[in-house]
Amino acid sequence: MAEYKNPGIDDVLAEARTYIHSPESLALIEQAANYASEHHAGQFRRSGEPYVIHLINVAYILATLKVGPATIAAGFLHDVIEDCGISHDELAADFNTEIADLVEAVTKIGTLEYKGKDDPEYQAANHRKIFIAMARDVRVILIKLVDRLHNMRTLQYQPEKSQKRIAAETLDIYAPIAHRLGISAIKNELEDLSFYYLNREEYYRIAKLVETKKAERDEAVNSMIRDISAMLEENHIRFRIFGRSKHLYSIYRKMTTKHKRFDEILDLLAIRIVTQSELNCYETLGYIHAKYRPIPGRLKDYIAVPKTNMYQSLHTTIIGDGGKIFEVQIRTEEMDAIAERGVAAHWRYKEGTKYDAKAEQKEIEDKLGWFKNFALYSEDESENTSASEYMETLQRDVFEANVYVMTPKGRVIDLPNGATPIDFAYRIHTEVGHTAVGAIVNDAMVPLNTELHTGDVVQIKTLKGTGPSEDWLKIVKTNQARNKIRNFLLKKESEKRAEKIEEGEKILSDELRRRGFDPKEYMEKKKLENIYREFRVSNYTDLMYGIAVRSIHPTAVCEKLTNHKSRMNEDEALTRVLNREAPKRISKSGLIIPGIESMKMSIAHCCLPVYNEPIVGYITKTEGVKVHRADCPNIVRLKSRKIDVYWDDPDDERLYDSDLIVIAHDRNFLLTDIVTAVSQSRAPMETIHASVDHETLTTTVKMTIRIHNIEQLNTVIANVRKVESVHTVERSSNG
Ligand code: MN
Repeated sequence: MAEYKNPGIDDVLAEARTYIHSPESLALIEQAANYASEHHAGQFRRSGEPYVIHLINVAYILATLKVGPATIAAGFLHDVIEDCGISHDELAADFNTEIADLVEAVTKIGTLEYKGKDDPEYQAANHRKIFIAMARDVRVILIKLVDRLHNMRTLQYQPEKSQKRIAAETLDIYAPIAHRLGISAIKNELEDLSFYYLNREEYYRIAKLVETKKAERDEAVNSMIRDISAMLEENHIRFRIFGRSKHLYSIYRKMTTKHKRFDEILDLLAIRIVTQSELNCYETLGYIHAKYRPIPGRLKDYIAVPKTNMYQSLHTTIIGDGGKIFEVQIRTEEMDAIAERGVAAHWRYKEGTKYDAKAEQKEIEDKLGWFKNFALYSEDESENTSASEYMETLQRDVFEANVYVMTPKGRVIDLPNGATPIDFAYRIHTEVGHTAVGAIVNDAMVPLNTELHTGDVVQIKTLKGTGPSEDWLKIVKTNQARNKIRNFLLKKESEKRAEKIEEGEKILSDELRRRGFDPKEYMEKKKLENIYREFRVSNYTDLMYGIAVRSIHPTAVCEKLTNHKSRMNEDEALTRVLNREAPKRISKSGLIIPGIESMKMSIAHCCLPVYNEPIVGYITKTEGVKVHRADCPNIVRLKSRKIDVYWDDPDDERLYDSDLIVIAHDRNFLLTDIVTAVSQSRAPMETIHASVDHETLTTTVKMTIRIHNIEQLNTVIANVRKVESVHTVERSSNG
């Protein structure tokens, strides 16, 4: 592990003076340094060092990133609210509100940390805080990143358990943020430090591999540098050239994810050339390709198409003397600064211009396409999604994005691997997603489930009045698209329900009118309330819905309603007594056809309808009436032999079989989680069967559960849909 030397306050000021000259700004930094020393006096870190050493380090690293004076000052002060009991207002009075706000935001992120709760929701809530703060003001995350960097550099003083947890969090959350903001200098260091604490054996193994033959590699790189330098000087190009080494974690990642041996990694011999202009970059590339044979398919022009974290450079891989393979990166000074310091370089502090945090934030959102999405999620979904859902969305849609496609106007959109035009459409705009009917990729019309690749130019065909279908949930890769589609479908479902309720109202009022009663009088809320219990519903809408889907007889409702109202005459009383004397019959099948007593009825096996959903009967030649779901494809296309059937009064004990098909991404404990979700809905499980497609890592789970009614079934489906990595849950129908 590297040794770090602690800087002093003078070093921070010296570093700041390289780009900050205003006496007031320098005084502000010095004042913050003294304030921190005074207030943290007597506090010590686990290492035994005075606490202020940590603050000087944080401020120093911030200064090397060339941030503004307020951010450096906030670096010195970032722990005074938490550790010295100083309030936001005191800080605002002693300095200014800008600094007080920054310190407060950093403190708010920090207060959930180091408590070591194992609850994943708790962790996620903590991470969400980080992201929301970052979406509001990117300077907060810069301070937080640097704070974490120094804490990682001094992690050896923590107990082993904390080391592992902090390192894991750093690798999962902070390194990707640094990467996304283009601050590769910090990202690489965070990754290597985390790697060391998480997997020391592998860390040392890779370090040893790098060490062997290092002299040989250095010699090859140096001789190549001499040759290229001579060539570029001949051609009057001004440049800097140097060899660079990959950091250990990136070698480890290549070896594990791409299954490469150490000596198969092509960019171990790497050279960087920094020139004066974009034109020089292309010229340099031309000279190099003229002299050395390039490996086909390895030339990448990130100058013309920058990465979404603003990274720009030309990459090529060439074969040098003795068949040695070199990776060459060519870029301008400006591009090099952005490659190392990302956001911090692009928005580096410029003296003399008034700093406007809001304007900068907006500019970052414009420049960093992903940041805008991310800021949107953070606003949008912070209230109505759980912290773990939010984290999953970020993880999938922002951090794992690695397909870069373009709009016809050249805007780069980043998507996760395997994303489709539907994901793209929802990224452009919700409405574009909802009304997408086709896609044109690189001038050819393609189906909406086509997998997109980096460099594709994508255009979406829309048609007003259309909407997403349930099938789309199987196709999309981003959580953003998935959530939008689900919300759309839910809304449509509730509209459908509203229609059914109206239909129920109409059936009931027609029935009343037919019997000579005035619906207005009998369908009063008060009167209806009296009969809810009789029909086992708890409200108006359930009653009307029941009438519409025929689980409740309009006739029976009419009778109850009118009996409640009118005094019985003798005839009626007699009828009632007679009726009551007959024992309440619950039909064997749980189904009835009004007016027909002795018809054999049974549930159709193709669609397995359950109590309280719309049904229809089909009169078979030999097996009596088969009852199907009203939308069963087997019955929808038939014209004759259909008959209205009703659910009988519920027999609370009766259970109906229902077959479900779950499609999910394969992972450990998937089946356990599904079984748990089902049993939490109190539905006994009859059978469960899973098969995995090893190519797509998709698991198909078929199960038969036993349930009481459609409401319970919908709950089961909703619960299973919430299980992690589940794409779709559907009732099977063997049409
Ligand atoms: Mn700190």
